[in-house]
Formats: sequence, structure tokens, C-alpha cells
Amino acid sequence: MLNVQDQLHRPLRDLRISVTDRCNFRCRYCMPAEIFGPDYAFLPSDKILSFEEIERLVKIFVSLGVKKVRITGGEPLLRRDLPTLIERIQQIAGVEDIALTTNGTLLKKYAQDLARAGLSRVSVSLDSLDEQRFSEMNGQRGKVATVLEGIEKAAEAGLPVKINMVVQKGKNEQDIAEMARFFKEKQHILRFIEYMDVGNSNGWRLDDVVPKKDILAQVQQFSPLNATKPNYTGEVASRYQYEDGQGEIGVISSVTESFCSTCSRARISAEGTLYTCLFATTGVNLRELLRSGADDAIITEQLASVWQKRTDRYSDERNEQTMQKRKNAKIEMSHIGG
Ligand code: SAM
Ligand code: SF4
Ligand code: SF4
Repeated sequence: MLNVQDQLHRPLRDLRISVTDRCNFRCRYCMPAEIFGPDYAFLPSDKILSFEEIERLVKIFVSLGVKKVRITGGEPLLRRDLPTLIERIQQIAGVEDIALTTNGTLLKKYAQDLARAGLSRVSVSLDSLDEQRFSEMNGQRGKVATVLEGIEKAAEAGLPVKINMVVQKGKNEQDIAEMARFFKEKQHILRFIEYMDVGNSNGWRLDDVVPKKDILAQVQQFSPLNATKPNYTGEVASRYQYEDGQGEIGVISSVTESFCSTCSRARISAEGTLYTCLFATTGVNLRELLRSGADDAIITEQLASVWQKRTDRYSDERNEQTMQKRKNAKIEMSHIGG
């Protein structure tokens, strides 16, 4: 194994793969319906990486240091036969963990198959338990009960489940304590995500971010917390355990307390472009490389070289100037994968 490092001495450990740019939700912070409307041109199937191509890339990434793979999208469960892909990745020597991020709407249907295929864990996104607010946030596409059923089925199938809640000022900040209470009782880890300036279409403003400290204050009012150590270097969420020993929460504070110094994540979009940062404006076309007939040694060399040149630390540097510089040039979240 090569164990490549970037310019800031960060290893390559995690690979996030977006398996589709399509989604059955239209969350306003990700795929607002007025932009991702009926005429929006999603990728045709021949422009999307096949399972064979993804499997080949994962093997090469593992040879460079990757140990964890996360499948995301768009909505990954819209990709036909997803459990088959999980099974193929699970068989790759060196892959220690395969996670899936999903909006949960199709989880009830696929949870058993995913667990059987070797999925290690699942993160389910849910922004509110209030039907009306949830509906407003997801573009009137999904019901709370469907997501909760998906969560139940995943847990029943033996998959560890975490819940992701994006917190947006004026939209769902009033749900913080209720979500914490509900998932503490269910014994699932809830992770609050600060609303981020990913992509160009969500109209992000700093004023719409509920900072980590305010999120924690709300949870503390319901049940006191103690900060605890990360499970491993590079864990994106900072962890807090309930003082009564009954569970924990996490906060992903990309805006107010960035964590670029330990970022070991590479991302591949559905069309096979490699990005070394969630806020990248350019990437490397791996689909072309794969389909050009290049052998594994050439692809390995190119990937290593991309990582070795990496200097990304957008969230550490986020300010008016850096935001202006990337205005309208960032990749949409549904493409690059969360
Ligand atoms: N569709 C799946 C889902 O929603 O879980 C997977 C893809 S989604 C892009 C991955 C994660 O990114 C979700 O947890 C979502 O809430 C989060 N996300 C999307 N846009 C975001 C934004 N602007 N700020 C913070 N998190 C965001
Ligand atoms: Fe779809 Fe996930 Fe984006 Fe919501 S956050 S629109 S569920 S891809
Ligand atoms: Fe990693 Fe880029 Fe996020 Fe920093 S801003 S943590 S480099 S993805």
C-alpha cells in the first residue's frame, strides 16, 4: 500500500461515492425545486459510472490508503441494485467500513438486502419530526413516518443507524431539543449539521446558520452533555455524551469550527469526477481515464499525484473573499455527494 499524503500531510482514508445525481426530495438547502425542476437535465445512464468501474476505482483507492467507503448521492437508494454494489465493495480486501447516507424513504424496502450485502452502517437524514416543517424543508416530497419506518427497519436488520439533521435558522431550529429527546429515547446517535454553503443554488447566507454553540445550548437545556473524544482521527462530528450515560449526539460544525486539518476525504461524483474537497470548483475526470483503456498502474499514479498536490482547506479559510472567488463555481451537493 502506498499511503499517500497531501501537501498538508493529510492521508487519504475515506472515499465518498455518489451513485446518482437524482433524488426524490427537493430539500431547499440542496436541490431547490425551482432549479431542479421537471426540465432539469440529470445525467444520462451512460455518463454514470457502472458498478464495475466503481469497484475498480475502490480497489485502486484502497491501494493508496482508503479504508472507509461511503455511498451517497443524490438519493443512493434510487440507483438500481444498490445492494449488489455494496456486496462487491464489501469483498474488496482493505475496505474496513461501508456506510450509506440516505433520506430514508426507500430504506424500509432495502434495509435487509443492504445488511445482507455487508453494509456496515447507515446515516439517515431527517430535519424535523414536525410534518409541516419537514415537508417545507424537503420540497413537499416525503413523510416523517416513512423515514422513521426506514430507520426502524434498518435497526431491525442489525445496521447501526445515525440520524443527520441540517439545522437552518428560521426553518427548524425549534426542533433541536425534540429531535434530541426522540432519538435519545430510541438510542440512535443524532448528528446536527450546520447549514453549509455547498453548491450555488441554495442562496446560503451566514445569517441562516445556527452555530454549534447554540445547538449545544438547546440540547443542554433538555439534558446536560459532556464533550468526549473522537472515535478516530478525522471524525467529522464532534461528540457529546449525555451526562446520564444514556447516549450521545454529534455536531458537524463545518462553518463555525472547521476541521480541514484532519480531512482525509476524497469524493467521486456520479459521473466519475474526483474532487478533493466538498467545496471544490474543479475535479479530475476519472470516467474518461477509466474508459480510455488506461491500466491500473497509470490510474494509480494519477490518483496519487492528485492527492499529493492537494492543498484544500476551504472551511478553514471561509470568508467574504474566498466565498466571492468561488461564487457560482462550486459543485452542487447532489452531484458531489454529502
Ligand atoms: N440524499 C441523501 C440524504 O439526504 O441523506 C444523501 C445525499 S445528501 C447530499 C447528504 C447529506 O448532505 C444529507 O445529510 C444532507 O442533509 C446534507 N446536506 C445537503 N445540503 C446541505 C447543506 N447545504 N448544508 C449542510 N448539509 C447539507
Ligand atoms: Fe435529496 Fe439528500 Fe439533497 Fe435532500 S439532501 S435533496 S434528500 S440529495
Ligand atoms: Fe475537507 Fe474541504 Fe471540508 Fe475542509 S472544506 S473539511 S478540506 S471537504
